[in-house]
Amino acid sequence: MSNPPPLSVWARNVSPSPTLAIDAKAKAMIAAGEDVCSFAAGEPDFDTPEFIKEAAVAALKAGKTKYAPTPGIEPLRAAVAERYGAEYGYRLTPGQVVVSPGGKFSCYLAILAVCDPGDEVLIPAPYWVSYPEMAKLAGATPKFVLCSDRAGFKLTPAQLEAAITPKTKLLVLCSPSNPSGAVYTRAELAALAELCVKHNLYVLSDEMYEHLIYDGNQPVNFAMLGAEVEKRTITVAGFSKTYSMTGWRLGTLVAPAPIARAVAELQSQMASNATTFAQYGALAALKEKAKAAQALAEMKSAFDRRRKFLHAELNKIPGVSCLLAGGAFYLFPNISSFGLKDTEFCARLLDQAKVAAVPGSAFGAEGYLRLSYATGDEIIRKGVERLAAFCAGLKK
Ligand SMILES: *Cc1c(COP(=O)(O)O)cnc(C)c1O
Repeated sequence: MSNPPPLSVWARNVSPSPTLAIDAKAKAMIAAGEDVCSFAAGEPDFDTPEFIKEAAVAALKAGKTKYAPTPGIEPLRAAVAERYGAEYGYRLTPGQVVVSPGGKFSCYLAILAVCDPGDEVLIPAPYWVSYPEMAKLAGATPKFVLCSDRAGFKLTPAQLEAAITPKTKLLVLCSPSNPSGAVYTRAELAALAELCVKHNLYVLSDEMYEHLIYDGNQPVNFAMLGAEVEKRTITVAGFSKTYSMTGWRLGTLVAPAPIARAVAELQSQMASNATTFAQYGALAALKEKAKAAQALAEMKSAFDRRRKFLHAELNKIPGVSCLLAGGAFYLFPNISSFGLKDTEFCARLLDQAKVAAVPGSAFGAEGYLRLSYATGDEIIRKGVERLAAFCAGLKK
């Protein structure tokens, strides 16, 4: 008798998503009757707006149950192109739009479309957990640049320039950021864009949280920072966060036509089209603008209220310091003063205080926590009280 051969290098080298793992553990503890306050969620706690669901149900009943064109149903691609024009002045043909089964898959296809084995992908840390794994699955090498809270978790032009090598092919940017919530200003992005043009890099601009920006600030579309920038920018966004549609698995990618075409061809071999009737729900989200805006405004005002509350409470805890992040639904407090590894801090926090949080090291930034405030006000209030008591215990 012999064992079957080993699994592939890909299978052995990929790390499972630590955020999904912690969220799953917290949910399992809650299901077992434990009173856990979870800050681990990576999705809005709101339901998908009713009018979006109804549009998908109607499509399902009307027989929209077959394969669709790989890059998406025509009216949705046209509506996506139209909304970029209206929101940012980005003039796109429908051929530059690819609808995928999730923004996550859009990111992977973007990396596959531009990276060869051996190429380097620059990823500012703290980063969304999937970028390094996706780069590795494309045979490329992720290179990290640490951006601490002192720098507002943002990559500086000097850091970017120092990190670029002849092998650098792609820079990944995420603003507003998951996990830090940081939002780059237009001027900050323009300075980075100039270097990307100078060094001939592609940019994957992950704008998944473009509509979750607070304090009256407006999102910046990276591609629209200049004609030379547009040529090398791949923009990923979607419906998951803006319309609370994470389970629908729909994402959008827009790019110059040759890149969009390559992405669609890769997708045609790997997934075919995103779920056909789900795309009609997304179409309603883009077409019924008044209803969509109202649902978004309600969610955003709840997030903003929680953001301010959680930020204020965290900074009252001796030993904790936290920036007021300007976007997404995360805060990223610094807990390095406790002298514990963040993984150890989170493990004890969950076991002893029944609070779930994701350690910063999962995002390439040791010494922090990622706290999602996409959860109920009462859970946030109770959770931060427990966190304060836990921290007081550590200080004794
Ligand atoms: C949630 C998220 C995505 C992907 O969302 P999908 O649900 O796959 O559409 C991509 N990037 C970031 C930073 C995210 O937080």
